[in-house]
Amino acid sequence: MKIILNNNSLFKSLRPFNDIGFVPTMGSIHEGHLSLIERSNRTCKKTIVSIFVNPKQFNNKKDFKNYPTNIKKDIKILKKTKKVDFLYIPKFKDIYNNKKSNIKITKKDKVLCAKYRKGHFEGVLDVMERLTNLVNPKKIFMGKKDYQQYFLIKNYLKDKFKTSIIPCKTIRDKNKMALSSRNNHLDLNGIKKASFLSRSLIKLKRSLTKNKKIKQNLRIQMKYFEKFLKIKIEYLELRSIKDLTISNTVRDSRLFVAYYIDNVRFIDNF
Ligand code: AMP
Repeated sequence: MKIILNNNSLFKSLRPFNDIGFVPTMGSIHEGHLSLIERSNRTCKKTIVSIFVNPKQFNNKKDFKNYPTNIKKDIKILKKTKKVDFLYIPKFKDIYNNKKSNIKITKKDKVLCAKYRKGHFEGVLDVMERLTNLVNPKKIFMGKKDYQQYFLIKNYLKDKFKTSIIPCKTIRDKNKMALSSRNNHLDLNGIKKASFLSRSLIKLKRSLTKNKKIKQNLRIQMKYFEKFLKIKIEYLELRSIKDLTISNTVRDSRLFVAYYIDNVRFIDNF
């Protein structure tokens, strides 16, 4: 695994290859990231992973400051997989060395996290466009855990690059909680709450098949979970996977949730 710390070295290292799989991350590597790497390794001749905590996608300074980082541990884990050819760890200036972007999320896309995290996806699309320009991958592997992120990136990059965006399944722990770097912030009690909510939402999604008043039912369930678990739920909505509009049927839809435990924000979908 070659560690690349600047753009000159990136261009030199990647020039000979045209079948490159790319796994962009913000580090604190876990099994969710490793599943994307495995998929890339199986599909593409070379795999490059990036670790870059993108300040522009954090709408909250404190959240950016508190984002868990452990680069030494990450390097060790990634090396051990033997499935990563290149690890790109850029500096801010490697990414943001050219013109400012003017990305706007359209009104119809301002739902779920785009509604609640002002400027977040503008920052995500900006960094993904810049990274895609630099790495020029054939495929980018992204987790369905961040489904809205995958959806917006896919739509945004499709007219600009030939790169395909490959959605990959969400990796969960034995209690059905989605793996996430932010899980590091939780104590045992927090983990218990998140696991309970995850298991309950899987059951709830199944029960919705027979339920006609989905929107009202979700509102009631949301209040129940908030009270019972003493947590804040930002949204709990059933939406179409095709265009993220509100859905009245479980078919081709996902149940999207954002919630706070101990002031840490989590998202998931089922
Ligand atoms: P992050 O480091 O959180 O920005 O995530 C980097 C990539 O890993 C994104 O494409 C995420 O959707 C993906 N990812 C994060 N958690 C998981 C998970 N539990 N299962 C699968 N993919 C994940």
